[in-house]
This record gives sequence, structure tokens and C-alpha cells, in this order.
Amino acid sequence: MNATDTLDIQITKVEHSRLSETSFENLVFGKIFTDHMFCADYEDGEWKNFQILPYGELPLSPAISALHYGQAFFEGLKAYNFPNGKVGIFRPDKNAERSNKSAERLSMPHLPEDIFVQAIAALVDIDRAWIPSKPNHALYIRPFMFATDPALGVQPSKTYKFMVLTSPVGPFFAKPLKVKIETDFSRACEGGFGYAKAAGNYAGSLLPAREAAKQGYDQLIWTDSKEHAYIEELGAANIMFIIEGKLVTPSTRDTILKGITRDSVIQLAKSWNIPVEERRISVSEVVEGIESGRVTEAFGVGTAATIIPIAEIGYNEKLYKLNESSPREFSNRMNKALNDIRSGLTEDQFGWNYII
Ligand SMILES: *Cc1c(COP(=O)(O)O)cnc(C)c1O
Repeated sequence: MNATDTLDIQITKVEHSRLSETSFENLVFGKIFTDHMFCADYEDGEWKNFQILPYGELPLSPAISALHYGQAFFEGLKAYNFPNGKVGIFRPDKNAERSNKSAERLSMPHLPEDIFVQAIAALVDIDRAWIPSKPNHALYIRPFMFATDPALGVQPSKTYKFMVLTSPVGPFFAKPLKVKIETDFSRACEGGFGYAKAAGNYAGSLLPAREAAKQGYDQLIWTDSKEHAYIEELGAANIMFIIEGKLVTPSTRDTILKGITRDSVIQLAKSWNIPVEERRISVSEVVEGIESGRVTEAFGVGTAATIIPIAEIGYNEKLYKLNESSPREFSNRMNKALNDIRSGLTEDQFGWNYII
């Protein structure tokens, strides 16, 4: 998979790179940005002004509707340094596709998928010296789009910006998590836009997460908003279980974000002949399954952290402990397999890497 038509991007490079004065030790997620960013404008019904320019502040009206009404969404993906000197971006076409689903739900304009992918590839190429080579490190790529009409009417904006930032990152969570099954707050509801990476979804999750943190939990497991009886997601990641040797994960619906890591894990598991079930999973199936030993692994899956192992699940004042004896065989194997493919250490049998 490689680009054919090239996007006409106006490039302004930094005079002095910050790379040599940047420490790559103990990288905190999303705090360091590379030298450049990508920016495009939507005006008069079309995308224009494709630019790569020095990373920096934006001159914007305080009346832009993204700030007032949250007409904004983002994406997240990663690029890896390969041992052969090439760079691989993991499945950017899937993020392009998903960003258009978010755009549609928020009444925002489509961005042609090839423009999305080429913008990212051009930016990563210019800042490729920033991609860390250490194991479990990568360049996190953050595309986003927001409404820029300086007007307070509640209506779809006529103008937008699409931008891409890149940030070198290290491993996300160090240890298996203690998580709580949330039974009061909801992240998403039927008919809502949980399936979109809409900015507002994440603002709404901050208070519930902070309340759970006060009770000693690292993360929340979201349940359905009607009954709080079915498992949906883990924080901003999808959730999976190993139940009697099968990989079981909630089927996607409009309350669940269709993760690209989720899709990759499912495809890999199937290629290993591990049975996969995408279906409704009740809270009772999980907690009873942990007690009876049927549920042997629970973990989150997402771009930022890849596999997020869960050690303990709190539900109705009770703590259910996983894996006290089991070695997390599936999630460890999956973590390694995914990392090996994405960092060019093993054959990319599914053609997932976009090579530059
Ligand atoms: C981004 C995200 C995911 C994971 O998607 P990936 O494409 O695997 O990174 C899962 N759930 C939510 C709510 C998300 O925002």
C-alpha cells in the first residue's frame, strides 16, 4: 500500500530543530511534540491550504464553534521505526475511514481518505528523526478536525481546520490495572455518538474516572446506559476477555468505538485458530466467570497502550481478582505479535503497515 497521486503540500521547515535538546527518557504520553504539524482548511465547500509548518500556536477567534459547542473530533495512530531504516504507519486507512464516520455524525465535512493518509505520511516523513527506536516506543500521531466559524449560532460551521500533531511516546501503563465496573455514569447511550471519536465524549468521562480514582481504581469499565448490566468498554479502549479459551468481546454498536486494535486482535486471534465471539457480555457473566475460573484474562485494547491487562475488577463493593495463578498467556502473546508486526520485526501477513 503506497500513495500514487501526491498531495500538494506547502512546506515551511523550522530553522532550528528542537530534537537535540529533547530528552527521550521517561516520555510522558502526549507532552512532547515534534518540530512540525500539518494543517488544512475547509472553506467554500472544499479542503485547501495543505501545509506543513513549525509546531506552534494558532491564531483563532474566541467565538469558534468548536470551543462553544464541541464540533470537534480526533483520531489516534502510531508510526514505528523498522530495523531496516524504513518507517511503518499502522493501518492509517482505517483511521481515515473512521474519521469520516465521526465527521458524519457531527455534521462535519468528509476528508478524502487519501488526503488523510498522505498528510500523515508527509508529516511523519519530515519528522522521522523523532521516532523513538527503543522497544515499545513509537511516534503517536494525532489527527483532529474542528469547527472554526466565529459565530454563536448553534448550527454546523461552514469552515473547519484539519490538523495533525505527532508526539514521541513510550509504554503506557506499567502494571495490570485495578478497574471498577461503572453503574451510575454512562459514557455513551443508544442514539448518541459513542462510536465517534467526538471530543465531548472524553470531557464527559473525566468526572466518573476521577470519582473512581478516589476509590482507588485506575480505570472504569463502562456498561450500557439503560441497565448497567452489559459490558461496553474500558476507559477509552475496547475490552476483551478470555472465557474458557475463547476470545470474547462486546459486539460493536453505536455506544462502542470500533477500535482498530480491536479489529487487529480479532484478525490475529482467528489466524491462530482461537475461537472469537463478538456478542453482548453481561456483568454477571464476567464477575461469576472470574469466581468460577471460566474467565482467565481481561484486558483493554487500544492504540495508545496496545494491550492493557486487568488484574482486579470492582463491582458492587466486591473485588474480583484475575490471573492469580494464570500467566496471561493470550494477552502477552498478542501484545508481542502486534508489536512485532507494527515495528517491522516480523512478516506483515495482513498488509497493515503503510511504509515510508
Ligand atoms: C480510540 C478509542 C478506542 C480504541 O481504538 P483504536 O483504534 O484501537 O485506538 C476504543 N474506545 C474508545 C472510546 C476510543 O476512544
